[in-house]
Amino acid sequence: MFDVIIIGGGVCGCSLLYELSRYKINTLLIEKENDVSCGTSKANSAIVHAGYDPAPGTFMARANVEGNAQIEKLASDLDIMYKKTGSLVVGFDDDDRKSIEKLLEKGRKNGVPGLRIIEGDEIFKLEPNLSRDVKCALYAPSAGIVSPWELASAQAECAIEGGAKVELDTEVTSIKKSGDGARGIFTVSTNKGNFEAKYVVNAAGVNSDIVSEMAEKKHFKITPRSGEYFILDTTERSFVNMIVFQCPSKLGKGVLVAPTVHGNVIIGPDSKEWKRDDYSTSRDGLDFVRRSATRVMPAINLRASIRNFSGIRADAGLDDFIVGESKTTAGFFNMAGIKSPGLSSSTAIAKEVAKLIGEKIELKPNPNFVAKRKIVRFIHMSEAEKKAAIKENPLYGTIICRCETVTEGEIVDALRRPLPPRSLDALKRRCAAGMGRCQGGFCGPRVLALIAKHLNLRPEDVPKDRQGMYIITGETKGASK
Ligand SMILES: Cc1cc2nc3c(=O)[nH]c(=O)nc-3n(C[C@H](O)[C@H](O)[C@H](O)COP(=O)(O)OP(=O)(O)OC[C@H]3O[C@@H](n4cnc5c(N)ncnc54)[C@H](O)[C@@H]3O)c2cc1C
Repeated sequence: MFDVIIIGGGVCGCSLLYELSRYKINTLLIEKENDVSCGTSKANSAIVHAGYDPAPGTFMARANVEGNAQIEKLASDLDIMYKKTGSLVVGFDDDDRKSIEKLLEKGRKNGVPGLRIIEGDEIFKLEPNLSRDVKCALYAPSAGIVSPWELASAQAECAIEGGAKVELDTEVTSIKKSGDGARGIFTVSTNKGNFEAKYVVNAAGVNSDIVSEMAEKKHFKITPRSGEYFILDTTERSFVNMIVFQCPSKLGKGVLVAPTVHGNVIIGPDSKEWKRDDYSTSRDGLDFVRRSATRVMPAINLRASIRNFSGIRADAGLDDFIVGESKTTAGFFNMAGIKSPGLSSSTAIAKEVAKLIGEKIELKPNPNFVAKRKIVRFIHMSEAEKKAAIKENPLYGTIICRCETVTEGEIVDALRRPLPPRSLDALKRRCAAGMGRCQGGFCGPRVLALIAKHLNLRPEDVPKDRQGMYIITGETKGASK
């Protein structure tokens, strides 16, 4: 019997798992994929928004601004990659200026620090590669960039070390409540059996409407909306200094050009109604992104593209997130319809839900709470630090991923931490091996062998990403019988 079951291991579910691990309660997170951060949290713009977009007075506005203020300390505690770069929303004409003035007004109401409109040379000093047709811009110094999948997995790792449980490859298929009101017990059925809990939290992303209907009266519907991207090689890292947005429309925040924490440039997304589970990209989508980006930064080198990807937004058609206890099923909580700025708001959303759960059960401090972690990032070390690290552990002296300078030591570290990556992409999300220009072409086989060796798996059982996406199917020439 668990006190709380969280359904969904995206950035919201993992943030809540971490938040609840501060307390002496039994918490279980159930995730249908083979890793956390496999849904929307792995494929987005990775921006910590300043908070001028959400409508004033909404929970979304509060959560965005609070989440933005919390991220710097959290990133330092968890040793995840984050940088406060600042952002610009650029305007070309009088209509754009009006939109930018509205954003400034909303941002001030939402309590966004340091927001101001800038013009002329000040814009081009900040971003020399912007089109000279840009006339004005909203400057938000508090915006930043983060590694979204690290934000999720680092919190899950600390929570597991502090006593929380995570079940991967486990899909929730139904939820039943026995007993009335606060005393009832939930039975959460999955493909791997049943789990019981006093409280259940729905953090199932694009499936949050399906999971909600398993437990409560239907009150929202998710429309999945895809967004497609280009990732440019690190050769382009000096092309853009901060996050450059265009004026937002009803469909989203428009196409952005921004640096990533790994030193690449990200360009996108478009926005179109799509399928829940289809991460393919399209010529139309990418052409739109290309046209929009070159309007703002004409010299952008799209030939340096090393990868395209798409993410799926969980759009509930509302101006706010759906966060709180169900009106029809006591003890069932939603963290649902978490579209952008959900990544930026995730820590604040988790704190809100933990507070609501704390109104139901006594939350005593967990003496085993693990607030912080520290990991080796060889590429960021000085020469002296590198020498010392290799002396202590010679595995740091073997480079496996040449593009991102990831050592065998870092890969083995990731495989020994509490939530070991079981696929090539999960390992890439932990320590960047395979993220560079060759996209794992060179290091992939060695990474696969290391995963198999350290997790005691057959190489044939290590997928590229999700279960079923196998790279090796059996031995060919020279196979020993
Ligand atoms: C194109 C795009 C760009 C974005 N850019 C930004 C940005 O720059 N900044 C920002 O703040 N926000 C951004 N967002 C929004 C942000 O990415 C999301 O709000 C956030 O990742 C949502 O996290 P989540 O945990 O709610 O959902 P998810 O990450 O989708 O997690 C839900 C999890 O639930 C699991 N699940 C689903 N059904 C079941 C089931 N039945 N049983 C068990 N598990 C289940 C899924 O496998 C998934 O892992 C963007 C979104 C998109 C799509």
